[in-house]
This record gives sequence, C-alpha cells and structure tokens, in this order.
Amino acid sequence: MPAGRYAPSPSGDLHVGNLRTAMLAWLFARASGRPLLLRYEDLDAGRTVEGSAQRQRADLHALGVTFEAEPVFQSHRKAVYDDAVATLAARGLVYECYCSRREIQEATRAPHAPPGAYPGTCRSLSEQQRKRRRTQRPGALRLRTDGSRSTIDDRLLGAVSAPVDDFVLVRNDGAAAYNLAVVVDDQLTGVDQVVRADDLADSAPRQQYLRGLLYGDAAAAAVEYAHVPLVVNQAGRRLAKRDGAVTLAQLRDQGVTQELVRDTLLASLQLPPGPLDQAVQHFDPDRLPRTPWTWRTPDPD
Ligand code: GLU
Repeated sequence: MPAGRYAPSPSGDLHVGNLRTAMLAWLFARASGRPLLLRYEDLDAGRTVEGSAQRQRADLHALGVTFEAEPVFQSHRKAVYDDAVATLAARGLVYECYCSRREIQEATRAPHAPPGAYPGTCRSLSEQQRKRRRTQRPGALRLRTDGSRSTIDDRLLGAVSAPVDDFVLVRNDGAAAYNLAVVVDDQLTGVDQVVRADDLADSAPRQQYLRGLLYGDAAAAAVEYAHVPLVVNQAGRRLAKRDGAVTLAQLRDQGVTQELVRDTLLASLQLPPGPLDQAVQHFDPDRLPRTPWTWRTPDPD
C-alpha cells in the first residue's frame, strides 16, 4: 500500500520543529488516504540516545501523530542495504573511495560542480593503487553516476534540480550512508510520499536518481515530495535544543499542555485547534505557509 513516513533520528527528545514536521507528514498522509509509517534513522550509533526512540514515539502520539505499523529501525536492516549495493556493484556502479573530508574540500573540481560535490579522485584508480590506499585508510563506497541532472517536483518548492555527484553509499565504517538507506527503506516499505523539513530538499535529486537506478524510473517518478519550511528561533535560526523549552517535557514543566502545543502548531499552519483528525478536514497543501515559522513559547493562561 502506498504510504507516507516520518523518519527521525533517535538522538534525543523531539523539539517543536520536529513535531511540527511530523504533524505535517501525518496530515499529508491522511489527507491523501495513506498510512503513515515511523522509521528510526539510527545508523549513526554515536548519536543514538538510549530510550529516545520510545520517548519520541510517545510524544508523537500525545499530539495525535499515530502510525499504522510497528516502527522500522535502520540499524536492523544491514542485509537489505548490502543487497542493494551488491546489485549496483554487479552493474559496475560502485567504487571504493579513500578520500578524507579534507582531501575532498581541497581538490579542484569541474567549474560548475555544486559546492561539496565529490571531485572524482578515486573514480579510476588501478587495482594496484587501490591496494596501496586500502592499507592507509578503509574505503567508503561511492556510486558511479553519469553526472546528469536530476529534478524532482516538490509540492511546495516546485522543481528542485541538481547535478548528481558520486555520492557515498556505504561509509568507511561499513554502515549504509543516509541516501542509500532512505531510498531502500522508502521503496521496500511502500513509501511514495516524502514529507520532511526543507533543509533536506538538496538530497531529493540524489535520492530520486538512486531510486531510479535501483527500482526503475517509474518507481522514482511515483514519489511525491513536500519539503516543509523550518521552525526558527527568535534570532531567525533553525530551532535547536539549546533554544530553551522546546520539547514536550520541557514545555509541560512550564505549564504548557500537550493540547496547547498541538493547537499552537496547528495555528502556525492556519488550521483550527483540536484533534488532528478534525484538522485534516481543513488541510489544503496549497494554503500552507511557505516561509519559516518563528517559535514563541505559548502563554499557558
Ligand atoms: N532523519 C532525518 C532527520 O531526522 C530525516 C530524513 C528523511 O526524512 O529523509 O532530519
């Protein structure tokens, strides 16, 4: 069944910016008759905080963001990521890369390459060169792309287009990289609607390109994207944990109930207060605000 998803990293409690994005994912899914799936992006073991997956889910439920199935944990899915890499490798589309971040930054690249694009240093090493480099540094695996542009049609941003570079599929510690895991999971769990914060819009053309390679152009073209504006602090910067009382638990301590948080977030989307299954009846993606929204702690009285 086609589905939407919300995919947090379990690296601590969700803040109101994360919660607002999750509410939007739920609203987009429900308004289009899709179930919403929960996926924990926990491939970065160093960032995972014990117990936060359960706390995140409880906070989402408290606001009415409910899920149709048991959550998926990326850390349990190494075998499916390895399979996808093997398919690409069999087509000659994978190569080892030994570059450090610094080497990539300092390399010269083609005149129109986007900032941070991989310059292709390890693309055509001989087997002998690889052997030598491997003794210095374990290799990551990169996708051998054809350098073409990939364009997605975003529900809120319109066309988002970028040349696709040889991005990392598997990190040099052996874990699947973000783009690979997202594409494989979205496809294998039936996700055809991606709603997330607009700081990830840049990743969408790469993900669409990879989805096309792995599962065909029709599968890639079937994905609906909506990259939603961020929540910012009063200085106009992306909201963060250090911005004071920004999680449900912190707000509760200040006397702000979960219902008030929900209604404040709904108001920011120009939706009426109350349970989400009522709000969804008024939900119209075309009327959503297109600019960042500034968080201010609501007054409990
Ligand atoms: N895990 C990412 C985040 O927490 C979201 C990735 C995605 O939705 O593709 O921001």
